[in-house]
Amino acid sequence: MDKSKYTSYEDCIKFHGHLCGGITMGYILSVFAMQQLEALPNENLFCRVEFQSCMTDAVQCVTGCTIGKKNLEIKLADTKAMYLVRRATGEGVKVKMNFKAPDGMTKQEMPRYLMTLNPADICTVEKVKLEI
Ligand SMILES: [Zn+2]
Repeated sequence: MDKSKYTSYEDCIKFHGHLCGGITMGYILSVFAMQQLEALPNENLFCRVEFQSCMTDAVQCVTGCTIGKKNLEIKLADTKAMYLVRRATGEGVKVKMNFKAPDGMTKQEMPRYLMTLNPADICTVEKVKLEI
């Protein structure tokens, strides 16, 4: 996948402050969402995430939707799902990561392992329309 249009994985880690599974999952999920929507970071997007965790920092870096700009909404639901829509229409995608670390995998091994996976194998996509 062409990721060059988006904030890099390394820059997400720098923003977040440490390398971890969460920032890695957030990076994979948000790049996948941007690609599904065929969106660019400078577009007028709106994002809703169902998690407030390390993942959320990567979402802000990659999508450009941030708490400060009020185009990022956190609606906790204990899932790894995010909605990414065009603000003008509310139309977009919901992407959800269904990843479970293999038994015995350490926290240190997880980021590198995640980056070897095909995002389409661990994420589901559906079309949505949000009322913003
Ligand atoms: Zn973290």
